[in-house]
Amino acid sequence: MSTESFPTRTVKCPGCCGPSAYAPHNPYRPFCSARCKNNDFGAWASERYAVAAKPEPEDDPEEQAPGARH
Ligand SMILES: [Zn+2]
Repeated sequence: MSTESFPTRTVKCPGCCGPSAYAPHNPYRPFCSARCKNNDFGAWASERYAVAAKPEPEDDPEEQAPGARH
């Protein structure tokens, strides 16, 4: 029952898949460092931006041409 005296847990860093200290002294948890945290956030933000910035096909005039088959 001495394991409770170690609040620091080691988790897998989502950024580099390396060991990361999941503890109050690590402000970047679950990442191991600010670099990994920023890197992951940047990728996530850019991916989200790409999805949000997709073109709208409803604006295509050829899609609703009334006399195309007349
Ligand atoms: Zn890392």
